[in-house]
Amino acid sequence: MSKTRKRCAYCGEENATDDEHVFPKSLYPESKRRPGLQLLTVPACKKCNMSWQDDETHFRNMLVVAGKPNAPRLELWDSTVFRSFEKKEDGQRRMKDLIGQFEEIIVDGEVRHKIYPAKDERVVRVMRKIVRGLCHHHELATAVTEKRIWVDVWRYPIQSEFYEAMTCDHREPDIVEYCYSTINSHEIETAWLITFFNVVPFIALVSIKENGFVDR
Ligand SMILES: [Zn+2]
Repeated sequence: MSKTRKRCAYCGEENATDDEHVFPKSLYPESKRRPGLQLLTVPACKKCNMSWQDDETHFRNMLVVAGKPNAPRLELWDSTVFRSFEKKEDGQRRMKDLIGQFEEIIVDGEVRHKIYPAKDERVVRVMRKIVRGLCHHHELATAVTEKRIWVDVWRYPIQSEFYEAMTCDHREPDIVEYCYSTINSHEIETAWLITFFNVVPFIALVSIKENGFVDR
């Protein structure tokens, strides 16, 4: 066995024994799991790897109900999401976690329900983890701490010039597309736009300093 151990992309410790999926594997429905599907992975230690599992299931459930569904989302809803609610050990909790995020709004005099993924701490935590993994994968930075990352849902139309200045990629375009740009000014290192299921766009900024967004 090799003596040199890989460093964990998240905490930087020289004890990475696992390959962690940058984008949770549970976002990919059965029909996508064909041979040749390239999921993005980075080295991670057991401790980091284990720490997101529960939040990642909740993250998937939240994204599957946010906004207008596309085909992979409908498939996920009908298969794994629905099954997760039927599980004896934690199905009820999962459903409550999700419903607890619904807010009533009135549209044309009618009660509707809406969710705000960026207000949900667990969704934000998984988003931060995704950005940390992407920073490592693209060799922009490694072992980026959670505190350096600010995340929100992007609510405005995106100008095409904005995209032109960014490097864009995807891991199955109807599951996740992402773009990034190195800024290195105004205390911001990189900016990210990450869109799930063609409909839920997140923006994330990585600060140069630790606690760079404390006052924002
Ligand atoms: Zn680690």
